[in-house]
Amino acid sequence: MSEDRGLIRYLLRHQHTTPFEMCEIKFHVRVPMDCWRQWIRHRTANVNEYSTRYSLAIDASQRAGDGQWRMQSSDNKQGSDGFFDLERGKQFSEQELQLQNLSRSVYEERVNAGMAREQARKDLPLSTYTEAYWKVDLHNLLHFLWLRMDSHAQYEIRMFADTIGNEIVKRWVPLAWEAFQDYKVNAASLSNIEIEIIKALNLNGKDAAVEVARKFGLVPHAGQELKSNRERGDIESKFNSLGITIPWK
Ligand SMILES: Cc1cc2nc3c(=O)[nH]c(=O)nc-3n(C[C@H](O)[C@H](O)[C@H](O)COP(=O)(O)OP(=O)(O)OC[C@H]3O[C@@H](n4cnc5c(N)ncnc54)[C@H](O)[C@@H]3O)c2cc1C
Repeated sequence: MSEDRGLIRYLLRHQHTTPFEMCEIKFHVRVPMDCWRQWIRHRTANVNEYSTRYSLAIDASQRAGDGQWRMQSSDNKQGSDGFFDLERGKQFSEQELQLQNLSRSVYEERVNAGMAREQARKDLPLSTYTEAYWKVDLHNLLHFLWLRMDSHAQYEIRMFADTIGNEIVKRWVPLAWEAFQDYKVNAASLSNIEIEIIKALNLNGKDAAVEVARKFGLVPHAGQELKSNRERGDIESKFNSLGITIPWK
């Protein structure tokens, strides 16, 4: 067991992909269409999706509870930040239910009138569930989980990824899962700029590190205003999480 652990950790650390490509798993997933649109971008899986040209669309839609309506983030255009209060959330949930019921009844009316399923479905909302068989090897599954369990992924797909990771993959391949946590999920990589700053900080102190940051355009010349800078912000978060002094603060 401990030899296996060492070997698996070595293989993952050195990105030997072949052994991980030899493990395959097939999921039967039921996912709302908006989430599926993100999921299907992962090209390295085999997909067989339920056809709503051939069969009736699944009569189930994803719903958000009164307390689950998220507000737009002001600093991340792709993200959310905080929740609407329950009263407002209740209105959104009621509206959602009305919309889903209406679109379903229009769909069924079209089908009952003899309209082709491929056209009748066109006004179903993105919250409608689809189903698929999703076959993927462990190497690409871990890549999917790394991207979609990350805090930057949308909450909805993150919940699916969390479940697949923690409830299935962790039990299926515990040693590979452990190595994945160590070498991917909880690992940190350093850019050349970060390495140069840390080196200067360790060897010659704060001022030298600020000089390096200045050379890379992260901090202005002395006396100038420190304007917000996304890359500098990312470096600050990383340094904070690693307990490294931020030289320009
Ligand atoms: C947080 C987040 C935000 C995103 N935002 C956007 C967005 O705003 N707009 C958008 O369009 N997409 C967005 N995406 C989707 C993203 O760009 C990828 O399409 C998706 O994550 C799939 O990743 P992938 O290509 O690495 O995976 P896979 O398709 O599974 O590929 C795995 C790896 O195989 C290799 N590979 C696969 N196919 C090829 C190929 N044909 N040629 C060369 N190499 C290949 C690549 O190395 C790739 O990384 C977002 C994804 C995330 C996680």
